[in-house]
Amino acid sequence: MNATTLPELSADTAQASRLVDAHGRWIHKLRVQITDACNFRCFYCMPENARFMPSKLHLPVDHLVETVRQLIHHGIDEIRVTGGEPTLRREFPEIMEKLSPLPMAKLGLTTNGFLLDRYLPRLKDTRLQHINISLDSLDRENFHRITKTDTFDQVMRGILRARDMGFTVKINTLMFRGRNDHEISDFVRFSAREGIEVRFLEYMRIGTNYDANAETFLPAGEVIERLKSEGFVLHREVMPKDSTSFNFRTEEGARIGFIASETVPFCGNCSRLRLTSTGMLRSCLFSTQGQSLRDVPVEQIRSVIENVMAMKPTGRKKEIRQDMHAIGG
Ligand code: SAM
Ligand code: SF4
Repeated sequence: MNATTLPELSADTAQASRLVDAHGRWIHKLRVQITDACNFRCFYCMPENARFMPSKLHLPVDHLVETVRQLIHHGIDEIRVTGGEPTLRREFPEIMEKLSPLPMAKLGLTTNGFLLDRYLPRLKDTRLQHINISLDSLDRENFHRITKTDTFDQVMRGILRARDMGFTVKINTLMFRGRNDHEISDFVRFSAREGIEVRFLEYMRIGTNYDANAETFLPAGEVIERLKSEGFVLHREVMPKDSTSFNFRTEEGARIGFIASETVPFCGNCSRLRLTSTGMLRSCLFSTQGQSLRDVPVEQIRSVIENVMAMKPTGRKKEIRQDMHAIGG
């Protein structure tokens, strides 16, 4: 696709239509993976000797931005940039700046937080408002065991500074039996103390490391029961229909959510498509199916989107052997 062949979009031509699939699901969110590379080695996400794709295979920045613009034109209204670790892509700030003028309701970022502190001043001048930061431990040594990096202080600095600068910050914490479940109430207290929402994620059956760690799976229901038995009083919050999390507020003011993809799958309300770093439009985390949007003429983009929407499973697939960093989590 050549940027010069694209029709200009004005605010009123954006959202020309809604994308609703054959099962009545309104598809309006897009995960944009801008690299599969990462500087962390979270034990559940990738092997220590993980290999990444050469950057020359990435969709070039202008092509990426125009592709997103087209997807917005056809009905996407929320964009979340992810990876691998998105901040590691050399053009990361440029991508955020170039996505910013697009007519969308929400621009978000999912990051390990390592480079956040460095990029925050530049990000403050973009449309980015929602930053999700993965943090599986509040303990420096445990953080090191999980991520294989000694970067806890740097990540925490980025988290607190992002909050202080007015970004909407959420922490994503993957829960594991025997690895970080002794810290769950610390995370709840952290949320109350710092005014930052913490979302506890169930370990999904994704990736080449899953079988080796399967016994660490911790269901959200058990975590909720444990918190109640420790005396936390949880008040349920009302969430949008396509929210992937169910949330609570505690008496102390903590805001916590649960993304229980294994025990409470949300496929029936899924509203997402995914764009990989090479330009493949994919239908689901649990599927390798998709169709490339690279060099697709503008007039054929709608049919690619509709083909990919038709590939969306209606129920949870059991597992996928591809690692999360490679899919775009
Ligand atoms: N590097 C960035 C980060 O860590 O936030 C973005 C990419 S990472 C793959 C996105 C999210 O996927 C992280 O919150 C991570 O904890 C989560 N994740 C990775 N593997 C997972 C799995 N098997 N089940 C559930 N979540 C997983
Ligand atoms: Fe990297 Fe994110 Fe995967 Fe951890 S979860 S290894 S930070 S991509």
